Amino acid sequence: MECVTSPSYSIALNGSLYGKFAGKKGLRQGDPLSPFLFVLCLEYFSRLINLAANRDRFAYHPKCAKFNITHLAFADDLMLFSKGDCNSVDVLLDCLNKFSRCSGLRANLKKSSLYTAGISGQKLVNIHRLVNMPIGSMPFKYLGIPLAAEKLKAVHYVSLVEKIAGYINAWANCTLTYAGRTELIRSVVQGVECFWLSILPIPGTMIDRITNICRIFLWGERKALVAWKNICLPKTEGELGFRDVKTWNLALLAKVLWNIHDKRDSLWIRWVDQVYLNGASVWDWTPAKGDSPLLKRIFEIRDIIVKKEGTTQLAIANLNRWFAGEISGCSKAYEYFRPRGIPKVWANEVWRHYIPPKHSFILWLGIKGRLQTKDRLHYMDIDQNCALCGTAPETLDHLFFQCNITNQVWLQIKKWLRITRAMTTIKSTLKYMKKEARGTSWQSRAKKSVVACTVYHIWTARNRRLFEGTVVTSDGIIREIKTQVYKIMFSLYPHVLVQYEHLALGH
Ligand SMILES: [Zn+2]
Repeated sequence: MECVTSPSYSIALNGSLYGKFAGKKGLRQGDPLSPFLFVLCLEYFSRLINLAANRDRFAYHPKCAKFNITHLAFADDLMLFSKGDCNSVDVLLDCLNKFSRCSGLRANLKKSSLYTAGISGQKLVNIHRLVNMPIGSMPFKYLGIPLAAEKLKAVHYVSLVEKIAGYINAWANCTLTYAGRTELIRSVVQGVECFWLSILPIPGTMIDRITNICRIFLWGERKALVAWKNICLPKTEGELGFRDVKTWNLALLAKVLWNIHDKRDSLWIRWVDQVYLNGASVWDWTPAKGDSPLLKRIFEIRDIIVKKEGTTQLAIANLNRWFAGEISGCSKAYEYFRPRGIPKVWANEVWRHYIPPKHSFILWLGIKGRLQTKDRLHYMDIDQNCALCGTAPETLDHLFFQCNITNQVWLQIKKWLRITRAMTTIKSTLKYMKKEARGTSWQSRAKKSVVACTVYHIWTARNRRLFEGTVVTSDGIIREIKTQVYKIMFSLYPHVLVQYEHLALGH
């Protein structure tokens, strides 16, 4: 009882704490004992209500009768079910009252609601008078997810979109690189979606809104440098490897199909099996018009897989391969459904783990020809000449290779790392490096890093010249590149400093 009686409470008033009251019952908020005590209390309540349900005057809710379900409880949410008649409701209220008398825990009627379906007129008035709690309307939220008796409308998904927008807005005013924003979208936003996507078919309009929030966060209000549908292809296919929300939704719901097929031991699966399928195989069942929209979507997915595979047996074999005993089953299902691109030979060279992500990102934009050099901004009334030398139009190949200044940069860098081949485009340079620098020796890793570092530092030097007016020399750029490569080498091989010391010194 020490945990229960030892806390004390004060009142916060105008920013200061006043008074001190000893706790006599209840736990501190967040006390690890809390869920344990909750389970103990609810176990008593469960038994109480199940005993009462066996009495003559109680009738189960029609959809719950097969499993004798009277209630569901999770955390501090409790749902009670019965047939819509006063006798049955009265039995439930009796149980609640008895539980209150024994435990001291009283249901807050103002925070509770009565939900009915198919009852109206005097019958509803009588039940309402009996329970003395407000009449609620569907959908309502259970565990953060809207519960509805019919297909959810787009408006019911607004809280999902708002949640994602909330995460994004918290970071919107921070100065993040493209790489930083990419990681944030990948980890936070796509993580938030997961819970919703694994139990609800998300409408296309909502997917568009989520995508739009992410797109604006990544690129700003201006035109996207790379189309979103491309970005969602994997890195091996030359893109960023975001998950396409629609396909990910499909893959997560395929897991539900597997659970139904596999007759996984959960109350919901058994309930679907008995109430909807009525013992029939999930592969033969056709949903009726009024059936659950979630189930209808799941059976659409079933049909997609069967059509793709040709037979039900092959479809089952696929599901089996993805989900049987696998934690990463949904990723395999995603791989199956996702749109396909063409594998790129340079892909691995761009996203090496030791290259700083912001360097990789600029290199990636460079290879795709999406860096905003002046020739791509011809619609703007600006000087079209190279920001570094000012003597020729600024194209990607000029800026990175033909320009006097950057040509000097490459000459020195090549000499430094003993590279003989002429460099003319970013893509060909990367392809050459893939051949030239095989293996994982420090020399080849230095060569692999140097392309990303050179492209990045040339690009930032150009931007500094253009937007801040800072004069940059080839020597300045070379120094930055060498320092960066040195940093990468040091992080990879902190104990073999002497061997490659000459790299950083430029001998
Ligand atoms: Zn130039």
